[in-house]
Amino acid sequence: MNATATTTATGRDWRHDAECADVDPEIFYPLDLAPYGPAVTVAREICAGCPVRLDCLLDVMAGEDPARRWGITAGLTPDERADLFAGRRLSSARPGAVAA
Ligand code: SF4
Repeated sequence: MNATATTTATGRDWRHDAECADVDPEIFYPLDLAPYGPAVTVAREICAGCPVRLDCLLDVMAGEDPARRWGITAGLTPDERADLFAGRRLSSARPGAVAA
């Protein structure tokens, strides 16, 4: 079976291993999206310890509507994902903040 955006090569849905699975989702949708602000930092720290961060990043980059980016995903803000999608260097991400 081929892997899809939501499954690993073994067919397991990577979301089962997501560090955020048991965390309040609101943490990933802060009102203040300042890249180094406390709200974003809390979400980034959770993503930094996530074993499926790369799967998460690949999934969001493959399926996210560029006109409707919300919240922190794979440790990246919407603006950072827009930069990544456009092939621009991440200007605000701290070193090591990105899985890919
Ligand atoms: S990288 Fe972050 S948003 Fe993605 S699954 Fe892991 S904890 Fe959740």
